[in-house]
Amino acid sequence: MEHPAATEKVSVSPAAKCLTCKDCADFQHHSWRKSCAGCGCSRADHAPGTEAEDDRRMGRLLGGTAWEHLTARLKGGGGLRTYRRNRMVVTNPVVSRRDPTFSTITYDWVPHGRSQSLAVQYMDLLPEGRRPISGTQGSLYRRRQLLRQLPLYDQDPMSCQGLSSEEEISTMMLFVSSYKDHVLGVGEVALPGEGGALEEAANQRRAREATEAKDEKETPSKPRPQWEEPASADNSAAGSTDVKTQHWCSGCGLEVPRDQPVVFAGRAGFQHFLWHPSCFLCCRCQQGLVDLVYFWTGPGAEHDPEPGTSIDHVLFCGRHYCETRWPRCAGCDELIFSHSFFTAPDDTKWHHHHYCGTEY
Ligand SMILES: [Zn+2]
Ligand SMILES: [Zn+2]
Ligand SMILES: [Zn+2]
Ligand SMILES: [Zn+2]
Ligand SMILES: [Zn+2]
Repeated sequence: MEHPAATEKVSVSPAAKCLTCKDCADFQHHSWRKSCAGCGCSRADHAPGTEAEDDRRMGRLLGGTAWEHLTARLKGGGGLRTYRRNRMVVTNPVVSRRDPTFSTITYDWVPHGRSQSLAVQYMDLLPEGRRPISGTQGSLYRRRQLLRQLPLYDQDPMSCQGLSSEEEISTMMLFVSSYKDHVLGVGEVALPGEGGALEEAANQRRAREATEAKDEKETPSKPRPQWEEPASADNSAAGSTDVKTQHWCSGCGLEVPRDQPVVFAGRAGFQHFLWHPSCFLCCRCQQGLVDLVYFWTGPGAEHDPEPGTSIDHVLFCGRHYCETRWPRCAGCDELIFSHSFFTAPDDTKWHHHHYCGTEY
């Protein structure tokens, strides 16, 4: 019997009890499965580890992307990055008492943006169980979705145990840098017709920093566009500032009120696509995209959708985007970066040495 602590790379908080079967006091690491050796449920079914671990995983994911400004260099971390997670404390007066007191709500995460009122409006438009209010089920839901939608072993070869050759490691590294360059994004919350301001500001800041870092005598280069605006068939983009312009949710197709925040995906451009906060979902699992991290395969992306794909089937969470490109092993839950794998009668895919739980 292998000692769990011997192979575990990240420390896990002491009481990662199982939230699904409730029989299991602590997550037990299996030698290669990602599920619990004690109860069989997944890592995300158990209480998550520390928030610092969450933030380091997110820092790693967003590092080297156009959203690197949402991360910061980890002090003494040898170039590792951590997430500059936006927390928010809202103070409300309690009006029912004679001497006014104040109640506060702490959000463990809110979208980056310019105004607190927009963030509060955004939160109010989410289903209650998805509001990441500190100490509530909504906060736990968010942290479990981070593990579920953005597993570390989909982005870090060092966290994988199923890679069996140098070739598979380099295939994975190419895949990760390709989705970081062309597919992954972080949604922006703004009023309809006002999307893109934050990304524009980030682009300008990046261009300014690049210019300052370069030799002074070089002429400042134009900021490199992070993506092209998808070609518009009808050139109606110019009318988007018109107050009469109506906006429609790309998820449910219903009209979006002008005074309520929506989510934009920069990869999709800011003219033709926007979503109700509650409609910004993975098309596969129908879960809200955690911390607005999306994978876009629609117009303008490297991999345009298959002909006939409906437009709402182009927003993915990380897990399900990766599965459109590589099979996932039903045993260890890692992607299989090889053309040789086993397909079971129920169509699940397996590393050869993981099928039927054959230990090795
Ligand atoms: Zn369990
Ligand atoms: Zn367990
Ligand atoms: Zn909608
Ligand atoms: Zn999904
Ligand atoms: Zn496997």
